[in-house]
Amino acid sequence: MDNVEVMVVGAGVIGLAIAARLSEAFDDVLVIDKNTKFGEETSSRNSEVIHAGIYYPQNSLKAKLCIQGKAMLYRYCQKRHIPVKKIGKLLVAQGGLEEAYLRQTLISAKKNGVDDLTWLDQARLQVLEPELNATAALHSPSTGIIDSHAYMRSLLTQAEQNNAMFVAQTKMVSAKPIPGGYEVNLDSQGELSSIRCKYLINCSGLHSEKLAQTIEGLDKSYIPKLHWCRGHYYSYQGKSPFKQLIYPVPRDNGLGIHASFDIGGQLKFGPDTQYIEQLAYDFPENLKAKFIQQISLYFPNVVAEKLQPAYAGIRPKLQGAGDVFQDFVIQTSDEHHLEGLVNLFGIESPGLTASLAIAEYVADKLKVV
Ligand SMILES: Cc1cc2nc3c(=O)[nH]c(=O)nc-3n(C[C@H](O)[C@H](O)[C@H](O)COP(=O)(O)OP(=O)(O)OC[C@H]3O[C@@H](n4cnc5c(N)ncnc54)[C@H](O)[C@@H]3O)c2cc1C
Repeated sequence: MDNVEVMVVGAGVIGLAIAARLSEAFDDVLVIDKNTKFGEETSSRNSEVIHAGIYYPQNSLKAKLCIQGKAMLYRYCQKRHIPVKKIGKLLVAQGGLEEAYLRQTLISAKKNGVDDLTWLDQARLQVLEPELNATAALHSPSTGIIDSHAYMRSLLTQAEQNNAMFVAQTKMVSAKPIPGGYEVNLDSQGELSSIRCKYLINCSGLHSEKLAQTIEGLDKSYIPKLHWCRGHYYSYQGKSPFKQLIYPVPRDNGLGIHASFDIGGQLKFGPDTQYIEQLAYDFPENLKAKFIQQISLYFPNVVAEKLQPAYAGIRPKLQGAGDVFQDFVIQTSDEHHLEGLVNLFGIESPGLTASLAIAEYVADKLKVV
């Protein structure tokens, strides 16, 4: 049976960032993914926004790792020539109640360490974004967009340069603790095998709860329930009416249907929130009216015919519909008492932004230098 020091299950942005980081300390890091390529699930079905870190409760992992990760990510992109644009974002209010939310956000963001937000009144907004309808907005200059695929490719290259190996079409089926590590059972297109590792890192995104259930000896009380929440995007044909990202105030357990661009400049609107029981990237036909209604609040001249269904992504959420805020959960032996095992649960937004900081956090918890 083969031996590796580190086995990373899942080659999304989190698994790749962790593999890149741990490969600096270990010679044999193995990353597996059940799909044919890296990053085929949530990591390639998101808004590709580098978040500033303004929404999350003080001292939460989401706040800390987003702000730390944002700085690390901009530096990483510059060093490795990953396409990125710090284009800024407007968080927009419609009337007094939402302006009160902005005022509150200004204070809480500052407590989190985001001190570059500025208040823009309606007159100023008219000049900056004439197509925008809003009574006030917060401007976040550190928000940006990234080519997430180029970023993931770079993480994999970095890991491979440090001798890490990526094996696709290989699924972890189960694992059990053995002296000094784990024996992990794999299924590579019907061919079954086992491998030993010292560290086992579960970053399987939407599947992390189910995967954790297959690890012998892991007390089930440490495995939280995941809720799958799908979000849909429409692309918008023609020239963008906006120069920067436009976000309404958050609603329905998501950040609200916002206007963002991919790195090529294509404008898109989304995502909405729809809790689902089965994993499926279906795009219901009846969503357009809801999108038009929400977009027209801040973009009254939206043209329905220019909206085309684009794609859907699924959030691995720890909160169900109507539940209160839930933080990222990153468990090591400090929590579950199984040496060398790391489980990551609920790595929804801002996971892409926070990816490098999450990798550093895992390295710290494992006391890897
Ligand atoms: C709609 C939406 C919008 C978002 N927008 C943003 C944003 O703008 N900015 C931001 O910072 N974040 C955003 N996010 C969050 C971000 O996309 C995620 O946090 C991040 O992609 C999670 O990466 P991951 O590696 O944990 O998961 P994934 O990318 O899902 O990777 C998990 C991998 O594990 C593999 N796997 C699963 N089970 C097994 C197994 N048994 N054996 C082998 N492999 C397995 C899967 O095939 C998959 O490739 C958004 C998310 C969504 C859904």
